[in-house]
Amino acid sequence: MALTGKNAIVTGSTSGIGLAIAHVLAGQGCNIMLNGMGDKAVIDGIVAELPKTYDIKTAYNGADMSKAADIRALVADCEKTFGSVDILVNNAGIQFTASVEEFPEDKWDAIIAINLSASFHATKAALPGMRKRDFGRIVNIASVHGLVASAHKAAYVAAKHGIVGLTKVVALEAAEANITCNAICPGWVHTPLVQKQIEDKAKEQNISVEKATADLLGEKQPNKRFIKPENIGALIAFLCDENGNAMTGEIITIDGGWTAE
Ligand code: NAD
Repeated sequence: MALTGKNAIVTGSTSGIGLAIAHVLAGQGCNIMLNGMGDKAVIDGIVAELPKTYDIKTAYNGADMSKAADIRALVADCEKTFGSVDILVNNAGIQFTASVEEFPEDKWDAIIAINLSASFHATKAALPGMRKRDFGRIVNIASVHGLVASAHKAAYVAAKHGIVGLTKVVALEAAEANITCNAICPGWVHTPLVQKQIEDKAKEQNISVEKATADLLGEKQPNKRFIKPENIGALIAFLCDENGNAMTGEIITIDGGWTAE
């Protein structure tokens, strides 16, 4: 239990990758401040389940990650509730696809706010406490789209490239403290965010969801298998324990070979 007694915020942990990260960190003894949108009963269920399964503490803060004041309050809530923010996983994210000419301005603004600016606000708020305690692990969930592009994803690709840059700056600024900042760049992970893209593809091309799934994987991800969200959680657990102390400013792909081509 390498992370016993540590306190983590995982943004966007009511679903998909964030929820899996919360499980893996909790399994290593870490208390978890959950965050994210969704059905209240589902969220209450997650808040209740984790402490029973892993003998840790959880709390939930419904901060809207598009709002700077909410994000600052989320960090303050974790410090007040658990005593510190030792681990910050900036994971919340959304997607919208359209050509640049047709991309709605409000979708651009929302994706930049949630997928990029939220990490800046959370990091800015968490760093002073991390410096005071001389310990911090910041992990940004970027994407292969932080390194390469796909058509129809202007805002997402811009935000994810931005978060790769932010990761490197934070790593440099915190390098002499015991604080690391890294980014993880996953390829396709089967979550609600991707399921919507599969269903849109099936509808547009008038093909089955099974065929759309196989095509989606076949086009970009050489191993043709979805990445398991718990594998991303395990990578984060590694970065957060003692073995990860010299890894900072790293941009780590976990992408089934996507960016090798
Ligand atoms: P998901 O839709 O399953 O989960 C997204 C989470 O973010 C949810 O908990 C949701 O409630 C939360 N969220 C969205 N808007 C929010 C807001 N305004 N305030 C607070 N929470 C908000 O998606 P996912 O696939 O698990 O994505 C998680 C992260 O992983 C995202 O940053 C995404 O870009 C990244 N990612 C996903 C994939 C993939 O293939 N699924 C690949 C690479 C990177």
